[in-house]
Amino acid sequence: MFSRTSELPSDLRNTGSSERTRTRSEQEENFEFTIVSLTGQTWHFEATSYEERDAWVQVIESQILASLQSCESSKNKSRLTSQTEAMALQSIRSIRGNSQCADCEAQNPDWASLNLGALICIECSGIHRNLGTHLSRVRSLDLDEWPLELIRVMSAIGNELANSVWEANAQGRLKPGPDASREERERWIRAKYEQRLFVASLPCTDLSLGQQLLRATAEEDLRTVVLLVAHGSRQQVNETCGEGDGRNALHLASHKGNVVITQLLIWYGVDLMARDAHGNSAMAYARQANSQECVDTLAQYGCPDERFPLMATPNLSRRNTNRNNSCSSSGSTALI
Ligand SMILES: [Zn+2]
Repeated sequence: MFSRTSELPSDLRNTGSSERTRTRSEQEENFEFTIVSLTGQTWHFEATSYEERDAWVQVIESQILASLQSCESSKNKSRLTSQTEAMALQSIRSIRGNSQCADCEAQNPDWASLNLGALICIECSGIHRNLGTHLSRVRSLDLDEWPLELIRVMSAIGNELANSVWEANAQGRLKPGPDASREERERWIRAKYEQRLFVASLPCTDLSLGQQLLRATAEEDLRTVVLLVAHGSRQQVNETCGEGDGRNALHLASHKGNVVITQLLIWYGVDLMARDAHGNSAMAYARQANSQECVDTLAQYGCPDERFPLMATPNLSRRNTNRNNSCSSSGSTALI
């Protein structure tokens, strides 16, 4: 429960002998006391006076009590957390499309691809692992821990939305069934996520993919964000609102306090160190938005946390006539 060497002062000395046979009066005469651990270990100490011995016994007993109470409260906490987590995971299973594996339609899939926001069966999960984490981050619904931001992502996407992006056009190819061979599954999964053969088309627009991503993020249009990151390169994910502004999509997602898009952007390679034209990292925007979830997620990935006061960002629609700058299209990106 506690260590005698760290808890006791040097003027108390361990008697170092078995005191079991000593009477209480003898121990009192010697100002001794004994600590017995739950495992039966004993430690014997001797103080220099009754007062000192009684003071030590009182301090140690209160420490034992505090320690026991702390253990009990942390047990309750984790139990509550796991109950909440179990309920959240159950609700993820009930999202549209999630009763079947996103890739082979096996019933009741128990594995998740985090960045895809989809549930998959154990056979398909093995193939997803082989794709690499840049394409699919696999996690077990039952065996792994589920921090809040991951639950948020899985709750927000789901198999139906994910497949509306990743499997929009199967080009006449037949999806493997639950009994498909590993080779059949692998061919399908690699065509779907690695070669991106079935991905839905990009919207018809003159805007670059990066500018579309900025707009979709500012508008918190999750499906479009999923579609754009499915098509996009790291460079496109890191486009900014232009010179004089400097915000990337992560700044915009953090400003919205949108932990789902924040997390997705991080997985798809957005630069966490990027600063806007005023030197602000995404963390400053998350703090301004009072989004503890975004703050925690950004901190987890090392986003810098200097607290510069956020400056008003110029209204780009007045200043910038460049059609490729989409930030002005959304008033929601303006600060203060
Ligand atoms: Zn499957």
